[in-house]
Amino acid sequence: MRAYVINRFGGPEVFEPAELPRPEPGPGQVLIRVAASSVNPVDCKIRRGDVPVGPEFPAVLHADVAGVVEAVGAGVTAFRPGAEVYGCAGGLKGRPGALAEYMLADAELLAPKPKSLSLEEAAVLPLVAITAWEAMIEKGRVQADDFVLVHGGTGGVGHMAVQLARWGGARVAATASEAAKREQAQQLGAECVIDYRQETVSQYVERCTGGRGFDLVFDTVGQPALDQSIEAAALKGRVVTIAGRSTLDIKPAFQKSLSLHTVFMLINMLHDYDKAAHGNILREIAGLVDSGRVRPLIHEQRFGFSEVAQAHALLESGRAMGKISLVAD
Ligand code: NDP
Repeated sequence: MRAYVINRFGGPEVFEPAELPRPEPGPGQVLIRVAASSVNPVDCKIRRGDVPVGPEFPAVLHADVAGVVEAVGAGVTAFRPGAEVYGCAGGLKGRPGALAEYMLADAELLAPKPKSLSLEEAAVLPLVAITAWEAMIEKGRVQADDFVLVHGGTGGVGHMAVQLARWGGARVAATASEAAKREQAQQLGAECVIDYRQETVSQYVERCTGGRGFDLVFDTVGQPALDQSIEAAALKGRVVTIAGRSTLDIKPAFQKSLSLHTVFMLINMLHDYDKAAHGNILREIAGLVDSGRVRPLIHEQRFGFSEVAQAHALLESGRAMGKISLVAD
């Protein structure tokens, strides 16, 4: 089968086309004919060699996939050949990713794609939707009378978090660097939008919450946003972060917040996937998409798999709005 692989760590230019043997599904596995994927920061970190969790060389990267089931292994009853599925299912050690004609996935990591989305649209959702769900619903326990702040409100994870918080009944504020992004954050449901380059934390806490602070703050950025999150939280507020670059980032912030707030850290990409939970979250997300509660925000410039280098460069430039989609050649 055709694939795009890396044989060394480095910049976006390290991707190269390759021919690889087509895999066969083992017990519990599904063979997907890949239609689309998307770029996540973790794919770039693996490509650069920054995190030791990537597949072996020649490495097929990319976690997110949407496609059509080609064959199923022993014991798989949830999917049949021909089913359209989506999931976050590989691109990690021992699990080749989506930048190929076919990809193997554990059936429990997959769900039927939302009916109202194309495969290309569905492929941008899995990792960011699972992460936003775990942050907002499971760790953050968003409630109807909460005022929630999302740092990076038009980022991959952030745009899902804004919408999930609104679905949970909360009022939402979101940060974004550019006017067009702030307008988009409003369309996603944020009632208070913040240009974090212009306003101090105390200024926007005053403007958005009358000085009370936010009940739940979601940091999708890492420092300095983690410290700012703790500053922006109300007394006994909750802070969820996914982007502390190291425990050094997290520890001082955590100590500062002890007894005033609760800080949760999500680091699930560096652990094994929580299989059944992830498939189930994607089923919930599909329902929310099909009922019009959440929608993917996709950067206007679209890419094919052969343009994966340009797609990585765009993500790393910080200029993208929402998710970067990649369609199989
Ligand atoms: P994106 O690149 O899509 O979004 C990042 C966002 O950060 C952008 O919206 C950008 O918007 C904003 N941003 C950048 N710099 C700053 C700053 N100094 N202050 C405030 N906002 C800023 O990435 P994702 O949303 O996909 O992922 C975000 C992070 O979370 C990554 O580090 C990723 O690796 C990590 N992650 C962790 C997971 C886990 O542990 N479970 C799972 C998924 C992601 P703007 O233009 O407004 O600055």
